[in-house]
Amino acid sequence: MAKAKARARKDKPKLYRVGRARTGLGLFAAADIPAGKLLIEYTGTRIPTREAREIDKRRANKYLFEIDNRFTIDGSPRSNLARYVNHSCDPNTEAESNRGRMMFRTVRKIAQGEEITLDYGEEHMELYFGPAGCLCDACKAAKSKSAKARRKRAGTRRVDR
Ligand SMILES: [Zn+2]
Repeated sequence: MAKAKARARKDKPKLYRVGRARTGLGLFAAADIPAGKLLIEYTGTRIPTREAREIDKRRANKYLFEIDNRFTIDGSPRSNLARYVNHSCDPNTEAESNRGRMMFRTVRKIAQGEEITLDYGEEHMELYFGPAGCLCDACKAAKSKSAKARRKRAGTRRVDR
């Protein structure tokens, strides 16, 4: 009985899978996922935040996820699939901490095959993208839009002269 139950749980279809993203690996929806769903937990070793900041100073570790001033999750183990979630400035999940655990919750409907993303915040951006700025889809779209607008304005000025 208990065995069958465990097997049923294991066979439950996963809502996400690791796949190839534009830069390295990413996490993708394996089914349509509704908004407001607790999707995945960011798992790893809980370490004191003070210690985490020391590690971060020595070598930027993008798997350190700060819960608060006291605890940080070192999510570098490969079993932590949430570490594959890439950054977006227009993300479809948000992180919420609950009693020392970190969960990613969907903020809108995600279609099967869509990449799952989270806004990791400004500090992360500076650390991992440098002066080139963010390369997420939302930023790329905004950049090409403003470039188009610039070209348009430049064209107008030429006509005026
Ligand atoms: Zn961006």
